[in-house]
Amino acid sequence: MVTSDWGAIYRELGAKPVINATGSVTLLGGSTPVPEVKEAMDAADSAYIPLIELQKAAGKIVADALGVPAAYFTSGAGSALTLVTAAMMAGDDDEKIQQLPNTTGMKDEILIQKRQRYWYDRCLELAGAKLVEFGTDEGTTEQDLIDAIGPNTVAVHYYAHEQDPDDPNILSLETLIRIGHEKGIYVTVDAAGQIYPLENFGKYVRMGADFQCIAAKYMGAPHSTGFALGTEEMIHKISLQSFTGYETRRIRGVGRPQKMDRQEIVGVVAAVRRWLSMNHEDRLAQSEEMSNEMAAPLKGVPGVKVEMNQNIIGHQPFGVFVDVDPAVTGMTNQQVVDALREYDPPIWARVPDGASRITLHVFGLSEGQPALVGKAIRDVVTRKGR
Ligand SMILES: *Cc1c(COP(=O)(O)O)cnc(C)c1O
Repeated sequence: MVTSDWGAIYRELGAKPVINATGSVTLLGGSTPVPEVKEAMDAADSAYIPLIELQKAAGKIVADALGVPAAYFTSGAGSALTLVTAAMMAGDDDEKIQQLPNTTGMKDEILIQKRQRYWYDRCLELAGAKLVEFGTDEGTTEQDLIDAIGPNTVAVHYYAHEQDPDDPNILSLETLIRIGHEKGIYVTVDAAGQIYPLENFGKYVRMGADFQCIAAKYMGAPHSTGFALGTEEMIHKISLQSFTGYETRRIRGVGRPQKMDRQEIVGVVAAVRRWLSMNHEDRLAQSEEMSNEMAAPLKGVPGVKVEMNQNIIGHQPFGVFVDVDPAVTGMTNQQVVDALREYDPPIWARVPDGASRITLHVFGLSEGQPALVGKAIRDVVTRKGR
């Protein structure tokens, strides 16, 4: 709810708290660590621990739980993507590790299907690697991949987003793994949000990819955390890039600006354990209920079309699509979004890139807030809120 102490810690600093109806987005702070995670993080304060040992021990627990060879904690999925490129280019050669991001003398090209270019692929370039597109806007053939693999190719990258229907015009991950491994290149997967259904959690490495990342922001861990899953070889090479290398091995990998707290590592383990043992039926039922509460005040408002989002794949189930008719309300969807930011309290929602409707999610809402969001939209479009 929005009580008098809601967001007080921010107001005391002179910053204005907002209600997050957008969902899991970094610009609003992304995630709220769940109580199990906070307890584990607090307990971690009681002692210091050599981080390399903690990475190994905690990595083994997560890897075993997911049925993959090895795991490594990172400051977000984005960091895992950058570190794996450094790991693939420099391997276990300390000179090369310290030479990056200058890639002279290293295989430094990462293939990506033209139709699979996506926002976070930039993270693959930060250690010096170059993205090389193959295929066209229309599609990709196996021959396109075979032709694209050259002497400087180190890997082919795949973006897994099972919330969308399968794109029949791209090469599947199975095909990338088959051809990639035949040709001696690595296969990496961005599966940041692929944590539900549970069989998808870690699936891409189990299928044979050398690496996949997970964003722990999506499962109740601190927003700044994530992890890499992969082969023993790959996770070992990633560990050689670690921020701890500055002190332990006195080797300066690219990972130093991507530090993690020991509390965060412990917190991610708690988040994984919780995610694997929690009742997901209850989680889904709660999101559906909150989505219904958000939609209810909008039913029957002239010029407002409301549709439930039925997706349950990934980290952010259900939600509501809202589409206002400018001819009736005098407002576009974007104008509704803009007006909500001026509402008291401010509410953040969005018309996602490439979409036309307002997409609302309950991921960032607490009890009572869904109905408040629905009412605010009703107020805005019926001009009471302006
Ligand atoms: C959020 C996200 C990332 C970045 O993860 P961080 O943990 O924020 O660094 C990368 N890829 C995808 C698909 C994501 O959703």
